[in-house]
Amino acid sequence: MTLTTDAASLAVAEPISASPLSRRAKNALPSPTLAITAKASQLKADGVDVVGFGAGEPDFDTPDHIKEAAVDALAKGFTKYTPSAGIPALKKAIVEKLQSDSGLTYGPANVIVSCGGKHSLYNVFQALCEAGDEVIIPAPYWVSYPEQVKLADATPILIETTDASGFAPTIEQLRRAITPRTKAVVLNSPSNPTGAMWPRETIEALAALAVEHDFYVISDEIYEKIVYDGNVPLSIASLGDEIKKRTITVNGVSKTYSMTGWRIGYAAGEAEIISAMGRIQDSVTSNPTSIAQYAAVAALTGPQEFLGDWVAEFDRRRQVIVAGLNAIPGITCINPQGAFYVFPNVSALFGKTPKSGGKTIRSSDDFAEYLLTVAQVAVVPGSGFGAGDYVRLSYATSMAAIEKGLARIADSVRDLQD
Ligand SMILES: *Cc1c(COP(=O)(O)O)cnc(C)c1O
Repeated sequence: MTLTTDAASLAVAEPISASPLSRRAKNALPSPTLAITAKASQLKADGVDVVGFGAGEPDFDTPDHIKEAAVDALAKGFTKYTPSAGIPALKKAIVEKLQSDSGLTYGPANVIVSCGGKHSLYNVFQALCEAGDEVIIPAPYWVSYPEQVKLADATPILIETTDASGFAPTIEQLRRAITPRTKAVVLNSPSNPTGAMWPRETIEALAALAVEHDFYVISDEIYEKIVYDGNVPLSIASLGDEIKKRTITVNGVSKTYSMTGWRIGYAAGEAEIISAMGRIQDSVTSNPTSIAQYAAVAALTGPQEFLGDWVAEFDRRRQVIVAGLNAIPGITCINPQGAFYVFPNVSALFGKTPKSGGKTIRSSDDFAEYLLTVAQVAVVPGSGFGAGDYVRLSYATSMAAIEKGLARIADSVRDLQD
């Protein structure tokens, strides 16, 4: 066969299709969090005094001993490729962490280090799912779950939960969603965007269902260290050998150590699955950044005391923001048990119109837009999390900003009428 590359043959080529994009690319939704944060940053850059509740990351600086470990790694020349699935020292630190925090016994072959927890999750779905598979995702959900399930050609099956049930599904809801095609259930407790933790009985029931129907649980435990009121996080894999075999636990250093920009996450599970995730990672990213891996070793094995101060500070803000939101007529907000988000219900405001004129509020998107344009307050509409009656506010921001933002929200809600 000869290749014809002359101009004449190129000229007669048919267009491939109206759009160059794959169906996969066309179906990928943008992150609602990043969108609002970008809009708020633009306003800020234009000199507008915006109060941002959009942040999906702690506002604390990465602790010094962790930064020093990265500087040290640089100085020592640890700037080359590492094993794709992570350096042995970091895998060892993760294995020890899972043992001491959750009583989970794993070896290095059960652990993979990725470029963020988000990347670990992506690898899990790529390794487990294919067309025809269903993945059950309780809503409100972190937007990347359904997107990543779709990228693996599988089908997200959503279960609706509300503030009335504390944003946890009932055991009956879980049972009803299971079909012979169920491949996995996503568990995220404490949750982004709601801060809710599932009751122990519900996690135990999910474990029993997973064993009975032989599906996987993908347990995203990224917020396990940020919990309040004496709540204790429960790692579902710790409930027994049978559920451990069917669980992939995902975690990372982003939220616990305020290391979102370093991009280190990890997953633990059966060696067969972890090794498949490793093969996928080999072909996509290779290793996570070498110096960030050394910093993550320092994070996991170094002092943890600062965390108590961080959580106490988050807790003070949580109490102020929950009380402040509930004091605004038309807004109700349940108390989150973990993470650093509140997810107030704003549906009582739908149908109202600004006295000063303007568009009637008909959705959480309208309300978020109203707050940003009228009050210069950035919140994330719940629609992107599969829950259009709510908005998400992150309290990973200063107390002064929280107080200022609450006052502005109260004023702009007062300006709404039937
Ligand atoms: C932030 C977050 C993650 C992981 O973030 P990475 O920075 O990729 O480690 C995972 N799940 C949820 C629910 C999150 O909010």
